[in-house]
Order: sequence, then C-alpha cells, then structure tokens
Amino acid sequence: MQDLKKYWKNYIDGQWVDSARGERIVVENPATAQPLCEVARATEEDIDQAVAAARKCFNSRVLYNMRPTNRGQLMFEIARHMTEMAEEIGYAECLDNGKTLTGGKNEALAAARYFTYYGGLADKLEGRMIPLGADYVDYTIPSPFGVSAQIVPWNFPLQIAARSVACALATANTVVLKSPELSPLSTYFIAEACDRAGVPAGAVNVVCGYGHDCGAYLVAHQDIDHIVFTGSLKTGQSILKAAAERVIPSVMELGGKSAGVMFEDADIDQAINSTASGIFSNAGQVCSAQSRLLVPRKLQAEVLEKMAAKAKSLSVGPGIDGHDITPVISANQAAKIEGMCMSAEQAGAEALTGGRKHPDLEGHFIEPTVFGNVTADMTIAQEEVFGPVLSVLAYDDVEEAIELANGTDYGLCAGIYTKNLGLAHWAADRLIAGQVFINEWFAGGIETPFGGMKRSGYGREKGQEALLNYVQTKNVGIRITAGGGGRPGG
Ligand code: NAD
Repeated sequence: MQDLKKYWKNYIDGQWVDSARGERIVVENPATAQPLCEVARATEEDIDQAVAAARKCFNSRVLYNMRPTNRGQLMFEIARHMTEMAEEIGYAECLDNGKTLTGGKNEALAAARYFTYYGGLADKLEGRMIPLGADYVDYTIPSPFGVSAQIVPWNFPLQIAARSVACALATANTVVLKSPELSPLSTYFIAEACDRAGVPAGAVNVVCGYGHDCGAYLVAHQDIDHIVFTGSLKTGQSILKAAAERVIPSVMELGGKSAGVMFEDADIDQAINSTASGIFSNAGQVCSAQSRLLVPRKLQAEVLEKMAAKAKSLSVGPGIDGHDITPVISANQAAKIEGMCMSAEQAGAEALTGGRKHPDLEGHFIEPTVFGNVTADMTIAQEEVFGPVLSVLAYDDVEEAIELANGTDYGLCAGIYTKNLGLAHWAADRLIAGQVFINEWFAGGIETPFGGMKRSGYGREKGQEALLNYVQTKNVGIRITAGGGGRPGG
C-alpha cells in the first residue's frame, strides 16, 4: 500500500483546488492520536465558488437533459471507479477514521453499490398521467430541486455521502458536499470517481471545512435549493433554522437511542450476539446502534452475565491490526463518553465491564462497556453516547417493554428478539421507529428505507423512498380542445 498523501485539496467545478485563504485543517489518526495529513480548509469564498459551480451546472441542464438511462450509466461508471479504488479508500478510511482495513474497504464497496442502485433507478422515476376528460391532458414531472447542499458526519462519511450524492445525481440535482473535518479523506474519492467517470464539471463539488463556519455558511447560502443533513440533533436543529429562513426542503438524518427488546422466548445467545454487533460495531459510533437492551426481569442476571462476557471477549486496538473495538474519533469524543459513563455510575448504574478509556493505548480507545441496574430516568438511558456503551434495563411485562423502548426523544431504530411471530408483529407495530429489526440488529440494506421518527429526523435515505426527497412534483395541465371533447383544435 502506497503512503497516504500528506495534503488533500477541495474539488470544485471539476478541479482540485487549494482553499481560497490557503488555510488547512490537520487530520489526526485516532488510533495513534498523531497528526496524519492536512486538508484544504474551505471557508466562505470556497463555498461561494462551489455553489456557483453547482448552480452553473444545474442551469446548463446537462444532467437533466440527458436520457435518464444514460445518467444511470454515468453512475455505473462512478461505481466502477470507486470499486477499483476500494483498497486505497479502505486504507485512507482506516487511518483517518479508525476502522479496520476490511471495514474501510467495505465502505468503498457500499458506496459503489449506492451508485449502481440509484443509477439503476434513474430511468424508473416516472410522473403520472391524470385523467381529466377529453378536453385536457394532465401529467406530472418529478423535477429536481437544483443545488443540493449535503453535510455528513464522521462515523461513516463515505457511505453516507454516497447515498446522498447518488440520489442527487439520479434525479439531476447538483451537489455541494461538505465533508466532516474529523475524517474527510474517503469523501474525496467520490470526487475522484466522478472525475474519472466524466461527470460534468460542477455537478459534484466536495469541500472540507469546519461546521460552525463552512457548514453554517453553506446551509444559509442564498443559492442552494435543498439540504441533506446527517449528524447530531443539535446541529440539525440549527440547520433547520437556516432552511426555514429560506423555505427550502431538507432531509434530516439525526441521532438515536435505539432499544432491542428481548422477549422471554428469545434465543438468548442469538440476542446477545446480535446486540454485541449492534452496539460494538464501529466502536458504537453508529446512529442506529443498539444502545439499550430491554430484558424480562427474570432473565436479567443471566443476560447481564453473558453480555459482559461477550464484551470482555472483544479485542481493543487499532483498526489496522484488525481489532474488534477500534478507536473513537477524537480525544473530545473519548472524554465525552467516559464522562457519561462516570455520571451513569454516580446515578446508580453498575458497569459490569468497561466504562473507561483503555489505560494502555495511546489512541482514543474506550473499553466495551455494559451497564446493568439502569433505569429509564438516567441520562445514560436517554441520551446518545455514540460509543461502545450498552445500557441494560429490566421490564416486567411486554406493555412496559414497549413503553420503555419508545420512552426517549428519538425514534431511529428498534429491535425485537423472539421466536413468536405474532408477538414480533404486534411489537413492530407499536414501536415508534423508522426501522424495526427482528432477531438481527441491522437487518436491511441499501435497498431498505432508512430514517427517523420523532427527533431522529425526517425524510428517508436508502431504498426507493429516498429518491422522493430529491424531486418536487410539477403538474402540467393542458387544455387541448376549445371545448366539447371534439377533435384537437375543433
Ligand atoms: P455533528 O452534528 O457534530 O456534525 C455533523 C456534520 O455537521 C459535520 O460535517 C460538521 O462539520 C457539520 N456541522 C457542525 N455544525 C454545523 C453547523 N452549525 N452548520 C452546518 N454544519 C455543521 O455530528 P457528528 O458528531 O459528526 O456525528 C454524530 C451524529 O450524527 C450522531 O448524533 C449520530 O447519531 C448522527 N448520525 C446520524 C445518521 C443517520 O443516518 N440518522 C448517520 C450517522 C450519524
């Protein structure tokens, strides 16, 4: 594997460019806590240029006028280049994000799949013809919004960016993507793949900057038409104010505090393994993480013992060495997680294992953590930790289990562990969540709609539903006769 580039530029109007002010952001390797490389730091002038390029490309109608099947072919080309670069992407993602090499490569392959999936749908988004009698022809056109401003978080920057960029291209929108300042490298490969595939200049622009200036400036820009935001509730709320000011639509993919409900008849070992994958994958930095496990009180002791044993069996260390628990993204994030664990203990929760930063490792490692004795009123049971920290809560009857699962501000995901299909169906219907997993956390894929209820946001990404967030319906009504239903012109 070749050495990682030491400096990465922004991609604006089909060119790799320095930032207008010549400023840079230092990107750290979270596994070593050492500087890794620098990226050009976009500020207002760079955003102005990126938005102008996206506007010019949109107004040229180059994407819109293309036969949709050809737009799809162009997206297949992006996917092909992304796949060819998968090893290189995986390496970059491993170093700047902390994932394993396999995890990083899988990000690239998943990103490629988003382009093939939505490329395949580009020619299947159709309008309707609405019958109005003999004197009229009426039809609808799914019209792109224009310039789509997209902001992504650091936990899965490439996949998340790919799902939004792919939808935008399939529907002939143009894009300004702001990558996350903590782990931006993989998103540049979207630009590289677009460049190699021959995507028109200005259709996809990728810039990196800080949220408080670059991101805030982008979402308030007078010349954007659409926002796709994936990130925290707090940032989402501030972006929504900018969207409200300009009355532009937005997709909000926010946080979660998702619960898996284990019913009495569940296969306990299967539920434990699924829960471990749900909370410990990507060091718990997953919006759809299973951060709570609800268990029947009589099974509590057995489940806690097995869950703690499972957590203890996981190796903690750098992704490049293939460990199970890789680092969290930054010192701030590690301190926040550790602080939440300490507060939970003060509130009466019991850490059966973990709860602290790893004592012997240089990077930002948190030990896999299992809390018992958690009650619904505790902060650890209500707020997103975004780390490898599971809270186990006991319940007495199934109605209480559903109430506990629904008892947070969020509604991103929920899970059920049972062999009883009737009970699973009953519970799935009552859980307030955008997606419900039965007997396997993360069941689903690129094809399945994903998004939140309540404060986890609105709009859907993934699946066919996502495309509907990238178009607005235009109705065209035509009077074709002077009246009377006769021949045209009669
Ligand atoms: P964050 O909200 O801090 O940052 C997300 C992005 O927003 C970053 O690119 C950041 O630079 C930018 N940003 C920050 N302040 C901004 C502002 N005022 N205006 C415009 N942009 C701004 O979130 P994070 O810490 O990077 O990511 C973790 C959060 O993302 C968690 O809450 C997680 O649940 C959520 N998330 C949700 C999904 C989903 O699909 N629902 C997926 C992944 C992560």
